[in-house]
Parts: sequence; structure tokens; C-alpha cells
Amino acid sequence: MILATILLLGAVLIAVAAPAALRRLTSTALPPGLLLAAWLGSMVGTLFFAGSAVVVLAWPDHAPAEAAAETLVRCLSTISHAVQPWITEILAGAGVLALATLAGRTLVLGRRHVQAQARLRTYHLQVISIVARSREDGVMWLDHPMPLAYSVAGRPGFVVATEGLSSCLSRGEREAVLAHERAHLNGGHHHIVSGCEILAAVFPAVPLFSAAPGAVRTLVELAADQHAVRATSAATVGAALTAVSSSILPQPAGTLGLSNETALRLRKLGATASVRCPKLSCATAAALSWTLPAVAAWGAVAAVSVLTCLALR
Ligand SMILES: [Zn+2]
Repeated sequence: MILATILLLGAVLIAVAAPAALRRLTSTALPPGLLLAAWLGSMVGTLFFAGSAVVVLAWPDHAPAEAAAETLVRCLSTISHAVQPWITEILAGAGVLALATLAGRTLVLGRRHVQAQARLRTYHLQVISIVARSREDGVMWLDHPMPLAYSVAGRPGFVVATEGLSSCLSRGEREAVLAHERAHLNGGHHHIVSGCEILAAVFPAVPLFSAAPGAVRTLVELAADQHAVRATSAATVGAALTAVSSSILPQPAGTLGLSNETALRLRKLGATASVRCPKLSCATAAALSWTLPAVAAWGAVAAVSVLTCLALR
């Protein structure tokens, strides 16, 4: 029961404290890939700890590592063993029921979300196929004087752009916009955002999950900007971003474009354009985002145990 408490405390700590901490880091010079890894790591960590807490509670006899946890927090273990077995059984039953309900809800809402996205993509592709021209660059070009570009996920995904992109922007700026959109497709950004939206629908009351879609949407834009900067330059991407964000054309639902969070992105262009995020750094950020709260949870329970020891003397 003590190990389950520590795991649950770790999950709550991540779910409540991570959004504010990660949001504060977004405006720093840290690369967006690193922050994206931290957001995703926090979400996986919360689910893992909460799920593990239920497994430990429902485990017959002592779960692995439970003895070690009880030795570390010796005084609490005496109280834990004094708790009537039926209380633990009720908690375990309630935990398993909650876990099964949430798993079922995730499946249902996830399936509904994926189907809605697929319908939107199919409809979009059918309409675009009729009204747009495809050139050698693989982009679907729409005959419209205002500059606009966006990417649509799928197998394969595709980029849609207006002729206004060619007439209003320089050649370099147009390449920057297209590099940005291709980065969304190559990075699987649509799927990452979709996953966050599903979890937000399943856990609307959990701060981490409800904040994730908006924050992750911004981070994938920043990550795509970085790719565009490598393909052109920070000044070119900045000019393209300014031109496209002034366009009055609305971006279709379910797509990723270039026209949100313009002020933050212009600020970050110079600061993070040259900073890369190696896979090892991203993996470390993801791991740290849930190991630090886990250590904090251990520390909190150990401190309570010491206080219990002193009280029992
Ligand atoms: Zn974008």
C-alpha cells in the first residue's frame, strides 16, 4: 500500500505541477524538441504511475519492490500493516474499476476522434483534388490571391498552398513556408496533437492533460519553424511568418498551418534556431519530467515516515 501511495503521489505531482513549469520553459531558449519531449514524458509518466499504483494495490500478497519501499519508510509500514485487509481490497477494487473505465473511455473517444479526423481528411482531399493543381513539388496549389499554406495528415499527408504564397512572398520565403509544412508531416506532428486531444477528452479535469493540446500545438509550430530555418534562414522564416499571419484566410479544422502564436514564434526564431535537440537530450528531458516528481514523492513519503517514527516514540 505504501508503494501504491508513492506512485499515486508521483502521478498527482506530475499532473498538477508539470503544466505551469513546462509553460514557463516555453519562452526560454530551450529547443522546442526538448520541451515537446518533456510534455510527452510527463503525460506518459502520469499514466504509468497512476496505472502502476492500481496494479500494486491489486497485486496478490506483496508486489515486487513493495518490501523495499516499506523498509525505506519503516515507520509507515507498521501503520500500513495495521490497516484492515478489507480496506486495501476495497481500494484495489475501486482502482481496477476506475482503470478499466478510463481504458474503455480512451478506446471509445480515441476511436471517435480518429474516425472524425479520417472523415475530415477524406472530404478535404476530395475537394482539394477538384479545385487544386498539383505541380512537381508535390504541393496542392489553390488559385487564391492571399498567402496561405497548411498540411493535412494522412497516408501520405500533403501540403496545400495558395498561389498568393508565390505572388506575395519571395522565393526563399515560399520555400521556408513549404519546409515548415513538410516538417509537420515528417515529424508526425498531427498525430502527436491528436493523441494529446484524445487524452484531454478522457481526462478533462487533470491539469496536465487539459493543458497539453494547446501547449503541444505551439511546440510543434516552433519545431517546424526550426526545420524551416535550417532550410533557409531565421530572417526568411520571420518574414514569411509575418506575411502569412496577416492573411485573412481561415485555416481549415484538423490541419496544421503557419498562422498561430506569431509573436512568440518570431521571438523564438533568433533564440533557438541554431539549437538542436539530439535524441539523447530529448530522451533525458522526457525521463527527467517524470523521475523528478517520483523522487519528490519518495522524499515526501519518507519525510512523513520519519515524522511518524518521532510521533510513535
Ligand atoms: Zn505550422
